[in-house]
Formats: sequence, C-alpha cells, structure tokens
Amino acid sequence: MEQVKLPLVDESGYYEIRLESIGGLGANLCGKMLGELGLRYLGLNSASFSSYGSEKTGTPVKAYIRYCDAAKEIRVHAPVVSPHILAIFHGALLGKGEVLRGCTEQTKIILNTDLSPEEAAEKYGISCGELLCLSAQAIAMESKSRINVVMLGAVGKAMGFVQLEQLESICRDTLGRKYPDALPGNLEGIRRGYEELGEAFRTNADNTDRNTMKKKESSDMQKLGYETAPPGGIIPWAGNSVLADVSPSRQGYIPVFRPEKCINCAMCDSTCPDMVFQFQKGTYKGKEMMVNKGLDYYHCKGCLRCVAICPTQALVPALEKDYPDKPYFMPNQDLIRMPDGYEKTGANGYVTSESFLTEKRINGGEM
Ligand code: SF4
Ligand code: SF4
Repeated sequence: MEQVKLPLVDESGYYEIRLESIGGLGANLCGKMLGELGLRYLGLNSASFSSYGSEKTGTPVKAYIRYCDAAKEIRVHAPVVSPHILAIFHGALLGKGEVLRGCTEQTKIILNTDLSPEEAAEKYGISCGELLCLSAQAIAMESKSRINVVMLGAVGKAMGFVQLEQLESICRDTLGRKYPDALPGNLEGIRRGYEELGEAFRTNADNTDRNTMKKKESSDMQKLGYETAPPGGIIPWAGNSVLADVSPSRQGYIPVFRPEKCINCAMCDSTCPDMVFQFQKGTYKGKEMMVNKGLDYYHCKGCLRCVAICPTQALVPALEKDYPDKPYFMPNQDLIRMPDGYEKTGANGYVTSESFLTEKRINGGEM
C-alpha cells in the first residue's frame, strides 16, 4: 500500500490527534477507527488509546491517536499534549479549562456546535489555532447515526490527506461487521461529517509553537509530585464526575420528579449511580425524616434506573426537550463549585436516542 504523506509532524516525527468527549458519545470507538485507518488504509504506523474514569457514561473521555512514517516505531505511549487535530464532541466541555490544553497556531480544532466559528470562538474564548465547526448532533439525528461517526468524517476531512472512501472502508470493517443494520446510517453520518465540515476560521492565534508549548506542559506536569499533589491523591479533572456536568451525556430523556407521590423510601438514591437525589431533613406524615427534595440534573446521565425502581411512580420518564426548566432541579448543596464548573447545558439529542425507552414506555407513562 502506498503511504500517504503527512503534511506536518512534530519534532519526534508524529502527527497527533486528540478527541475530547463525554462517555456515551462514542469517542473511544472513533479513536480506535482512526488508529486502524492509519494502519490499514493510509500506509502509516499508528497507535490509539483512550482514557476515561470508572464509569463509561457521563464522565470525561479523551482519545489519543498518533501517526508516523511506516518505517518508524512508535515509542511514545503518553497522552497527546499538543495535538495537530483537536476534536471536541460537545461545546459544554469547553467550560473545563484543560480541553484546549496544548493548542497552538498549527492546531485544527473541530467543534460540534450549531454556532458559526466566529460565534463559537467568541462564546468559548477560543484563541488558538483554526476553528472548524459542524452540527454533528443534528447530522447524527438526521442520518440515524451517532456523533462519533460524524466526527470521524469531519476529522478525516480536516486532516487533508484522507479520502472519504477510506473512512467508509474502515467503518465497514468495524461497525459494518458488528452492526450491519446500522451501516447505511453510519456511512451517511461519515459522508455528511466529511462534506459538511465548515470552513476553517483563524482565531486570534497566540503564535505559540509546539516546542515551546511542550516544554511548558512538561514543566507544568512536573509540578505535580510527592509534595504538590492534591490532598488525598485526588485527580481533579480526568474521570472525576463529582464536579463534572454530565448533562451532555443524556440522550434525550430525564426523570421527572412528582413529590406528591413520593414516599421517601430512598430506593432512587440507592439505585442512582451519580449522586443525583438530594435528601434533606424534613417531615413526612408527621414524622421527622430525610425527605427527597429533588434532583441535581448536572449529575444525571439519563439512564432512568431510578424510574424503573421507584415503587410509586414519583419518578417518571420524560423527553428532555419538554422540560427546558426542569422541575425540582436542586443542585447538590454540599459541593463547593468552581466558577466554571457548571454551565447551563442540556442534551439536544432526543431524536437519536433509541437506547433505553421504547415509545410504548413513554406513551405508557403517566406524563
Ligand atoms: S424511589 Fe420514588 S418514592 Fe422512593 S424516594 Fe425515590 S422518588 Fe420517592
Ligand atoms: S436517570 Fe435516575 S438513576 Fe440515572 S443518573 Fe439520572 S437520576 Fe440517576
């Protein structure tokens, strides 16, 4: 196979990609497909891996891909610090400072958003590299695919040395074998991601070159050592859902609370994996006890296990789009929040979700 020519590489000879996502949007699989693409269809040597927390849905996910000349061995297995391509699967992630970490004037940033690049750069304070936007969520909804394949098409296009047919081939090899029924939708998602990626917008580049950035990053990292690590060895960012807003990982459904039906049995609290329910001291049937005051939707990933367990239908499933201002939204009172820790975000993927609820259950509910 003829090897493609990489348009630029870093001082170690690598072309590097980083995907920033939230568990459930498929970045891990997208990264794997990009890794295989390099090896099987571009004639390059490649490596890919992901990092995520203990739970796969709702927590921050990063995927890293490295390409290099076929004759060269990949000896680096560390996260990509300063990517040539940075793909951000959801705008809400940009509230967390480190998502743009390591970007330079050479970085192409692909952002899933309905905004224009100018608007997005202003809204999210992006001031490095070239920004390319596309409505990956809307395309996924229309093509009945997932965000990850749309972003795969967009990343392939932004790289500039990948043909659409090569992306389609890797999709057939992987998703086509596993989910043949979903293949037409996935192929359309890739094609539209490839074709509908917007023009590059040059942000106010800070002219930081990669070597300077890498040196700065590695000196920053070295600051975290035996004497300077956060108390208790807490990892403050990666995979930590306590301060994370996982709203974008919901796929269109939320539990809606009806307190008049609640018997305060706390089954929901025991079942919920994400500390959503807020119990406080109160009175129920004349007795002092902990009572359910509502839900912290920042932590709710929409799995609806609480709905299934609630014995009195005090929790019922609903389409998120019907509840822009969620009733009984009670942010966790015990958490100290960072100023940029939470944003008003919410899933807009209600059409794509085929994950948990059937129409019958929605219609059969009491809402
Ligand atoms: S499971 Fe239902 S009834 Fe029990 S505390 Fe939760 S919402 Fe209330
Ligand atoms: S849907 Fe229910 S169980 Fe699932 S995360 Fe949200 S509150 Fe918790």
